Amino acid sequence: MSVQLAYDLSKTEKRWMENVIKENEITRYMENGRDFINDEEIWEKLRKNRKPEPQRIRDILQKSLAVETLEPDETAALLNVEDEELWEEMFETAGKVKKKVYDNRIVTFAPLYCSNLCVNNCLYCGFRRENKAEKRRRLTLEEIKNEARVLAGEIGHKRLIVVYGEHPLSDARYIADTIRTIYDVKVKTRKGFGQIRRVNVNAAPMCIDDLKMLKDVGIGTYQVFQETYHHETYRKVHPAGTIKSNYGWRLYCHHRALEAEVDDVAIGVLFGLYDWRFEVMGLLYHARDLEKHFNGIGPHTISFPRLEPAANTPFIQQTEYKVSDEDFKKIIAVIRLSVPYTGMILTAREPAEIRREVIPLGCTQTDASTRIGIGAYSDRYNEQEAERQQFLLGDTRSLDEVIRELAEMGYITSFCTAGYRCGRTGEHIMKLLRCGREGKFCKLNAILTFREWLDDFASEETKKAGEKVIEKEIREVKEQMPEVYPTLMEYYTRIENGERDLYF
Ligand code: SAM
Ligand code: SF4
Repeated sequence: MSVQLAYDLSKTEKRWMENVIKENEITRYMENGRDFINDEEIWEKLRKNRKPEPQRIRDILQKSLAVETLEPDETAALLNVEDEELWEEMFETAGKVKKKVYDNRIVTFAPLYCSNLCVNNCLYCGFRRENKAEKRRRLTLEEIKNEARVLAGEIGHKRLIVVYGEHPLSDARYIADTIRTIYDVKVKTRKGFGQIRRVNVNAAPMCIDDLKMLKDVGIGTYQVFQETYHHETYRKVHPAGTIKSNYGWRLYCHHRALEAEVDDVAIGVLFGLYDWRFEVMGLLYHARDLEKHFNGIGPHTISFPRLEPAANTPFIQQTEYKVSDEDFKKIIAVIRLSVPYTGMILTAREPAEIRREVIPLGCTQTDASTRIGIGAYSDRYNEQEAERQQFLLGDTRSLDEVIRELAEMGYITSFCTAGYRCGRTGEHIMKLLRCGREGKFCKLNAILTFREWLDDFASEETKKAGEKVIEKEIREVKEQMPEVYPTLMEYYTRIENGERDLYF
């Protein structure tokens, strides 16, 4: 395999690849030379907890409602439920856990694809090196600025996730430059100004020094998906000779990030590569290992993308593990119940009808107005050009439409990024989330940031739907937190008059 790959790699690329992985930044976290995913143990837990008694399941649900991370045996029991009525109870409880920790808030963001150059060859990805049909491009900083201007100034996003293939031309230094460039963009809007206030990163695993560099430029969350926790499947879909074929380098990248003092890390699985029950167990083991090593800090968010078709990528049609819509709902509910404090990200890979159905099961974040072609926000000549994309999207609705629908469902869209800027991150936020107190700050900031967005970007129809939600929220603050109500209203009026970025 390495011979075949070497065919296309330049000398510089090869030299760069040889120096990426630092073995001692893997082994230092291992125990007795093993990583924390023991495939046999996971299967054993799933076998041992077959046919759980309904009362046991109800006891476990009480633990989730108390915002406690579940034990592997408990998650295995949930995954083994067969009775459909009991599943309905689990869906309902998952919704209650979400409401307890995050209330009716939902956060929106947009992905920004900066480069699709990649030295890896993941069988499922349109960006893989051997996909000759893919048009390759790395955005210049000027182009990044243009993308950010559209996102912050026309659509109204405040949070981005920036995405990169793994390549010497999109190394940590380039990523740091793009983050800096994005934070510098400030665009005039109807009443105030638009600005990206939080840049999260989805990029390859990095070494501690590189992660420190990203910390210094103000990275938000560092997000890396393990794709599959099953060692053998991992080997099959990530050909030998690539950087990504190193399971341990990827598995411990969040440990490295926390060691580099990046506050928030995000994990995920690409569902469809292996058995979904095994993968949910893998996510739980991952969350628990982070909690164990870092004083209770677990994943800030968990993602659960399903494999989507990609141009010239036949693997996707061949996989035997494709996840049905019914099982997808179960995955979301069990993650919510197993790691109750975590944020959960639903992406525009999923079509609108599915999104409507699963948001109430515990999702806290979603993207909208999404374009995943390189340079696709500012260069709008082609909506869904398959050859510039990593995969095909299920939901291409605008942010305005998505927010309107969410408001009609009773959700308030929060553009709040205050937590990160006043130290409510990492260990601190974990404590606040677990005791339900983070919600208080968030409720106030959701009202203020939603007001900003409605004034600066919303259509008349969306404004009407949004204002109904805001009125209800303000009423609740008046009743539940009378002590902060006057300050909230003072800020609210100042925002209506064009001031921006006021927060608690
Ligand atoms: N190159 C980096 C990496 O692999 O971690 C980051 C960028 S990669 C483009 C981001 C994520 O896209 C991957 O972690 C994978 O889970 C997801 N992805 C790849 N191919 C996909 C597909 N066909 N459908 C859905 N998601 C996919
Ligand atoms: Fe490259 Fe990431 Fe795609 Fe793999 S998933 S081919 S590493 S961009």
